[in-house]
Amino acid sequence: MRSLPYFCRGEVVRGFGRGSRELGIRTANFPDSVVDNLPGDITTGIYYGWACVGHGDVHKMVMSIGWNPYYKNTKKSMETHIIHTFKEDFYGEILSIVIVGYIRAEKSFDSLDSLITAICNDISEAKEKLDLPEYQCMKDDNFFRSHENSIMNGH
Ligand code: ADP
Ligand code: MG
Repeated sequence: MRSLPYFCRGEVVRGFGRGSRELGIRTANFPDSVVDNLPGDITTGIYYGWACVGHGDVHKMVMSIGWNPYYKNTKKSMETHIIHTFKEDFYGEILSIVIVGYIRAEKSFDSLDSLITAICNDISEAKEKLDLPEYQCMKDDNFFRSHENSIMNGH
């Protein structure tokens, strides 16, 4: 995908609340303005990269971009699960991310258990890939430290 790595940031907005209720895996949602800016070659699917809330530390993340077929959604979404335990929710804060790689296409699952298993595998793959030197260096990108343009999308 030519557009990777893709840097963007935006406010964390409320989703459908299903991340924690049904899956036990919380996902921070971006507003439509960020979703609508995605380059065309970043197709729906599961991705990995780095994420930072406000001026906090940079953590590994997995992200789902898509229509969420399991829920028969009609809306496109960008949902980031940050691989870190936060003390509090961070709705309204600015989430900065860089998407560095692609894991798999979105697919439907015949049970919630198989969906959860797939997400756990995605998280393991993301953790492993992000330890590679070519991805480690992106964690230290100046993008995560310079917030002059508080909202920006692109490279
Ligand atoms: P919603 O449908 O509103 O997105 P979720 O159940 O998916 O609800 O929870 C997402 C919210 O949980 C995020 O907006 C954030 O405030 C909080 N949160 C806490 N820990 C995490 C995490 N590790 N990754 C993503 N979001 C988290
Ligand atoms: Mg969510």
